[in-house]
Amino acid sequence: MSSPRRIVVQLRPGTDGDATHTPKAGVYEQLDPPTLYLEKIGDQWMQARGEAQPGVKYTLESLPAGYTLWQRPRSKDPKHLDKYLYGHPGKKAFDSPNRFFPHFQHLMDNGDSMGCPCTLCSGSSGVLPSTKARSSSVATSNASSRPSSSQSSARAFPAPAQAHLQHPTQPEPTFPAFRPVAQPPTTFMPAPSMQYKGRPKLVSTGMDTTRVDEEGSPDVYRNLINKLRRHERVDEAIEEPFSMDWRTEQELLPELRRKVNENPQWVPRAGDIVLYVRDLPDDVHILRYPVIGDYRMYDEKEKQWLDQPVWEAGLVSQTPAEEVTINDVCENGQKERNVTYSGVRVEPLPDVNSTDKSLSKRHKYIPVRHTRPFILWKHFLHHHKKLHPTILNAQTITATMSLTGKYRFTGVWPEASIYCRAMYLGYEMLAVGDAVRLLPNASRGQTTSTDILIIKSIRLKWSNLDSASENDWDEGRPYNSAVWIYGAAYTSDPSRQNKEWFSDSQSSQAADDYGDWYPLHPPSKELAIPYSRVIGRLYERNAMALWLNIKSGDCDFLDAGREALVESRDFARQHDIRISSRPDAKWHWADSRAQALDLHTVNGLDVSSHDQLRDPTEWRKKIKIMEGLTTTKVVPIAKPTSAPGLTSRSMRGFMAPTLSDLPVRSQLSRISNTTSASSRATGSSTGGSAAIRRSRKRTSRIVVLSSDEENEEDDAINEEIRQGTRIIDDAPGVQPKKARVQVAIGLKQQR
Ligand SMILES: [Zn+2]
Repeated sequence: MSSPRRIVVQLRPGTDGDATHTPKAGVYEQLDPPTLYLEKIGDQWMQARGEAQPGVKYTLESLPAGYTLWQRPRSKDPKHLDKYLYGHPGKKAFDSPNRFFPHFQHLMDNGDSMGCPCTLCSGSSGVLPSTKARSSSVATSNASSRPSSSQSSARAFPAPAQAHLQHPTQPEPTFPAFRPVAQPPTTFMPAPSMQYKGRPKLVSTGMDTTRVDEEGSPDVYRNLINKLRRHERVDEAIEEPFSMDWRTEQELLPELRRKVNENPQWVPRAGDIVLYVRDLPDDVHILRYPVIGDYRMYDEKEKQWLDQPVWEAGLVSQTPAEEVTINDVCENGQKERNVTYSGVRVEPLPDVNSTDKSLSKRHKYIPVRHTRPFILWKHFLHHHKKLHPTILNAQTITATMSLTGKYRFTGVWPEASIYCRAMYLGYEMLAVGDAVRLLPNASRGQTTSTDILIIKSIRLKWSNLDSASENDWDEGRPYNSAVWIYGAAYTSDPSRQNKEWFSDSQSSQAADDYGDWYPLHPPSKELAIPYSRVIGRLYERNAMALWLNIKSGDCDFLDAGREALVESRDFARQHDIRISSRPDAKWHWADSRAQALDLHTVNGLDVSSHDQLRDPTEWRKKIKIMEGLTTTKVVPIAKPTSAPGLTSRSMRGFMAPTLSDLPVRSQLSRISNTTSASSRATGSSTGGSAAIRRSRKRTSRIVVLSSDEENEEDDAINEEIRQGTRIIDDAPGVQPKKARVQVAIGLKQQR
């Protein structure tokens, strides 16, 4: 009997195989070639890639280097031979090709096993390919659930998969999609170009291991501060080559920025918290019920009103892979692919105060029309008697803040700024380029939100570095931290227009439909505000009208959700124990989005601090070699940029890299109580209060710009908004060209 024709499938480079991991001599016998695995994995892999041809069998050219197959007679039934695959770096054996497949696929997609979801790497929560999914290549590439990175990573190669599916009868498969094997798939290879060559490289701040964090990664920020102390003046890109998370972030950020720029602002972003309805039949819509004004389901076919939908609050952990248009706000539309591609993946938000995170696992893929921005919760829920527990969970995290994409450190001793690409504030992600709504300035008599800011930079500002303790982890005096958002500000209030400030520059696409916008400062300047003044992203007017099912004349969209937000921030300060346990705290600053929400898993994968796979020591060893800092002759074929973090596999995945170098504890202790503790409402922020103690040197450059910012002593809604607009010369040297004049909001107490 001749075996069926098999086509040899080539491996991609990269392995984590440990050739020293073999069974004890004696009982076991090695199977070489390991035919069982070569054939099963070969077939499975081609199917997973959507490239399997009907009637064709496949076989791998070999197993990834370091893996070997062994068998031994079963003790109770010696005629039966049990086969085990050895070579896993965790020194555990795979007992079946099916169990090995997710690991293999992860290796092929990523070049290493960091973040692998297989059962050996991630314990009992690991994934096994479902039998159903394997039954046809279509099912695999279109599987209705994507529990693992193995399936989402399959999406990295959608084009060839599609092409093959369209030509199922294509007789002889060729492998154009295969990357040629550039080098033998062995663990180590010489990398002369990366090697240490005679003269040592200058060690950059991120490679300077003088100061290390808890995991042993260089504390890049402390090193930068020390450098600033020595040089008085520093302006350099932030690089944390030793940080697993930083490397992950570098890979994800360009894609993220592209999405943020291309999509309208109303489209849910990875990391956003949204209101959503789990089940909503195709013909049923969520509409505003006349007279009462609550939101109910309406069956378009039967022409009848149904109940109020059950709203939950969840984390958006994957965003649509297909283009999203305004029609997606209210209809499912003609999507090319099913909801796992065209929709969003949401994970019900667990309680930040509890260790039970099981809600995270009840994820669901839903069409975009099932979602609403969480900030509109009062509109959709105010007639509801019973709320889903996740609604309170979401309210509890309203006063959280985390920065992401830190890219530049600039300072003149003893002050410094870190520039960031984006931040998470409460429910939403805000990025450079976004238009955001601002809380009304009560000191000017504003009661509703009329102003927006187009974000130009997000800065973490440190001051008083000279008087702070050098150890960021001890109880000594910390330096002051504040987060400020800079940008171009506009108002919709014509009474505040100043014709001299008009310019041709376009405000923002998101703002276009809202009518006329009047600049709040000269075009050559920027406005700086503490982050707590931000309500959230400005949602396009047409999206707001569809969501709320209201004519825009009947509702002030610019102000929608503001009251609910103020109420929720207050709620959070009382109920998020990380804040309420500190009498002077108003905000929880977290290293990452996942930490802000205290998530243990995202997209079914462990968050780094809960990730047993995470081995920073091993990681740094690899990086050191890669960066040529050692004289080692070999370099592991590790793909550093695709390494670990949360979900480096899928660009759609939620991005929440940990910037573990920021000492959170000392940040929290930095929160001062210089502002009135009695001011509840939106309260004072870390940003605002810390800014109060900014150095006098800087304050002295402040010039009063206009007279309308005289502070009033009445109880303002927003403590830090009792402030004026002032022109400040930027500290000389920060921008070396010429001292650019900027408009900044300062605090009365600064003087
Ligand atoms: Zn694995």
